Amino acid sequence: MSFPHDAHTFGGQPITQLATEQGTPFYAYDSQRITQRIADLRAILPKSIGMHYAIKANPFLPLVRLMAGLVDGVDIASAGELDLALKAGIVPESISFAGPGKRDSELAQAVAENVLINAESAGELLRLATIAQHQGRVARVALRVNPAFELKGSGMRMGGGPRPFGIDEEMIPDLLASWSRFDNHLTFEGLHIFAGSQNLNGEAIAEAQRASYQLALSLAAHAPAPIKTLNLGGGFGIPYFPHESALDLTPIIAALNEIATDAAQRLPHAALHLELGRYLVGEAGIYVTRIIDKKVSRGHTYLVTDGGLNHHLAASGNFGQVIRRNYPVAIIHSQDAGKVLSRDGFKSPSLDGAGDTATSTPTSVVGPLCTPLDLLADNVNLPHATPGDLFVIFQSGAYGASASPQNFLSHPTVTEMLL
Ligand SMILES: *Cc1c(COP(=O)(O)O)cnc(C)c1O
Repeated sequence: MSFPHDAHTFGGQPITQLATEQGTPFYAYDSQRITQRIADLRAILPKSIGMHYAIKANPFLPLVRLMAGLVDGVDIASAGELDLALKAGIVPESISFAGPGKRDSELAQAVAENVLINAESAGELLRLATIAQHQGRVARVALRVNPAFELKGSGMRMGGGPRPFGIDEEMIPDLLASWSRFDNHLTFEGLHIFAGSQNLNGEAIAEAQRASYQLALSLAAHAPAPIKTLNLGGGFGIPYFPHESALDLTPIIAALNEIATDAAQRLPHAALHLELGRYLVGEAGIYVTRIIDKKVSRGHTYLVTDGGLNHHLAASGNFGQVIRRNYPVAIIHSQDAGKVLSRDGFKSPSLDGAGDTATSTPTSVVGPLCTPLDLLADNVNLPHATPGDLFVIFQSGAYGASASPQNFLSHPTVTEMLL
């Protein structure tokens, strides 16, 4: 089970102690849980399928440094992330750069560093060829494909239909057939097919991976050179809400085994990999705030904390969610260190019954911002909690600090730590 079994400690340390030492609010990430997660996935993945980390899920430098020793490469989406990856010690050859609006300066840096560039349009290819020519270098290129199919049931769809991401699959044969117009400034290395994100349906992901592989085979027939790299995407989701359960990897592993076996014959020069973000780090992070006020408004209790959507936009429901739901949360009483008084809304056998629900009253937990959007938990049953107690949000290791508007209302930026 991925949920913390021992919710009053994190990364082997009492959460109250972390709060006292580091101050609140903070994010903490557990390196041991990340390492274990990757080892567990490696143990069942076919050996020939590599694992890349999508840095945008969590770009905290110490965490990226940890990832550098655990994964086969990283996917970046800006020159800033390129700097981060290099600083973290990742070799340029194992970095791939996707993203729909790469500036000339970013392309130039990527060419100079010799990273693989996942081209998102014909126009970008032309700009890239000019930049490579000026540098007297050859740019390494993969084409990001916008597939005609979509990954069903994804939290965020990134393929199928009109999209700003990738090149429509039906345009790619012509583009590959006319590759000589790039005058040897671009070397074609392969394909990148990413169909969606935050998917908890193993069958749907397996189906998308089979479709991606078939698409890669058919496009390879038009390629000016053998496929050296095939990025099959990812989209592996994690459970955030009570009605969700962990992704069943069984059908995915079955599909990847078939793909790996077939690719050994039909794409013998290709290195295949997945690109994963939140699946690797999302469950290994918590966000901790301290309650600074408690008030009752017309019968409803509000706990007001020292951090909110400025640090954790996703928990407020404003990061792409269609319906606002509560993340799994807990109150930790500060005078009673180590005892979880309550948690809400997340099924975990080891924690059932841990909540002191008998004394609970309908409560909403809000951050310090002057906007009704700053809601961290709505109508949850929490027991008696007073200012000074801690409020913890689980499943917070991905799309947290870096995906939140930290300047909004000019509160202090959030502390992050890797334990
Ligand atoms: C954001 C992104 C990812 C990571 O998505 P997760 O849901 O965190 O796994 C992977 N690949 C691409 C191209 C992305 O844009």
